Amino acid sequence: MEIIVLEDTKEFISYAPKEEIKAQDRRPFDLLVIVNPVLKKKSNRTALFFEGCLSVDGYRAVVERYLDVEVKGLDQYGQPIKVDASGWQARILQHECDHLEGTLYVDKMMPRTFRTVENLDLPLAVGCPKLGARKISS
Ligand SMILES: [Zn+2]
Repeated sequence: MEIIVLEDTKEFISYAPKEEIKAQDRRPFDLLVIVNPVLKKKSNRTALFFEGCLSVDGYRAVVERYLDVEVKGLDQYGQPIKVDASGWQARILQHECDHLEGTLYVDKMMPRTFRTVENLDLPLAVGCPKLGARKISS
């Protein structure tokens, strides 16, 4: 059995700069428990933002993630659940589902953006794409 648990409260969000919250399309959601989650992308829209993880504490790196995903599974009561998520919640879901496969954000990051939290605001290296939403050109 695999379980992900996630939550983003008004309080957590209030610690972030307003512009960042808006750019990341970050909105609060209640505690979400999903058992045996199956994640599917719902569009090819992606975005690049810095991401961190308690398994790699103290560091951040830019990761490209899908902006629209759907996750199906069971809730904490064993009832089927389907979550349609976009923006920052979609990022969290991808991050957490990756954990279940042993994948950390450092496996998907843009290596040249890897940095300590203290250096988070330093400019991106030359050649790095800008943060924010982008379209995949296939
Ligand atoms: Zn993590």
